[in-house]
Amino acid sequence: MSIPLTDLTSQYLSLKADIDAAIQGALLSGSFILGPEVQSFEQEMAAYCQTGHGIGVASGTDALHLALLACGIGQGDEVITTPFTFIATAESIAKCGATPVFVDIEPGTYNINPALIEQHITPRTRALLPVHLYGQACDMTRIMAIARGNGLKVIEDCAQALGATWNGQRVGSFGDAGCLSFFPSKMLGAFGDGGLVVTYSDEVAQQVRILRNHGARRKYYHEVNGFNSRLDSLQAAVLRVKLPHLDRWLAQRNDIAVSYAAALGTLPGLAVPVPTPGSTHAFNYYTIRLQGTAGYRDRLADYLRSSGIASAIYYPVSLHLQDVYRGLHYAPGTYPVSEKAQDEVLSLPIYPEMTPSQVEQVTDAIATFGG
Ligand SMILES: *Cc1c(COP(=O)(O)O)cnc(C)c1O
Repeated sequence: MSIPLTDLTSQYLSLKADIDAAIQGALLSGSFILGPEVQSFEQEMAAYCQTGHGIGVASGTDALHLALLACGIGQGDEVITTPFTFIATAESIAKCGATPVFVDIEPGTYNINPALIEQHITPRTRALLPVHLYGQACDMTRIMAIARGNGLKVIEDCAQALGATWNGQRVGSFGDAGCLSFFPSKMLGAFGDGGLVVTYSDEVAQQVRILRNHGARRKYYHEVNGFNSRLDSLQAAVLRVKLPHLDRWLAQRNDIAVSYAAALGTLPGLAVPVPTPGSTHAFNYYTIRLQGTAGYRDRLADYLRSSGIASAIYYPVSLHLQDVYRGLHYAPGTYPVSEKAQDEVLSLPIYPEMTPSQVEQVTDAIATFGG
């Protein structure tokens, strides 16, 4: 039996009756853009994330872009972020006319290293954009202290970490805004694209609401240049069915992580993810590190593929080395921890419906791989 990275079909089948009914209801309502389903979902998400507001948008990428704009980020500004993330993080900064300034990561969590942030702050720095990578919360105590000490905004990229906590508090609720993605393979996946901004700030919430809908508070009265970036009712209806299951899915993902760690943690040349004390990990991805001879990680990935087991590399090229940022003139070697991680990480299958025997199939294959 082959094992996928994630299994969206079995999740749908496990909730089929409820999801089908919700879709039917949305179709019969005749309301497709925003509307009552979206409004209810926004309130439920704000409650879940322990923030006052939730604003549905078209994608996680738009959540980042609109949140940055709502925080006043624009032309000439610098925003500090990690080079070890999905392109959308830096792309959204650039789309505001601002410049992404990268700071190297910590080797253990793969998240931005708070100890290196202050040396990158300049008079143009306006915000910090930490990413809770793979589902591991960043050290928000230190990041918020740096932001307060330097008068910076904080926009959290929570696309992989919905439900994760730092000191008992949900990610997304620390900074000025938290950005969520409902891309199908994320913790809470829609049947298409979707995203949401959560915030405790009335002003940021108001601004995102205006921006997502053509810059208008009132239909046909436009205050600013806005966007068409709305969450649709159909996706909200589906997500409302899934949300009550999220905590159970988080627990199931954590159980699988415990099984993986027990079987893989003692293998030589292999490091398993260890959640930072004081945090809970969402395990959107279960990412191991392979430290062996050159190409060791890629040979393991090939071996798994030939055994019918999917795996993925998040991410093979750090953002400062991407063609799109050639103009920023970052030389290879600028962020050594990130560049080492890009050669050594491998994400294994993990999804709530994964059975113990599937986990065992993966761990057995890795244990028998000779290198
Ligand atoms: C998925 C993801 C995004 C973008 O989300 P989309 O909904 O696909 O636009 C942003 N940042 C990170 C870290 C992500 O994993």
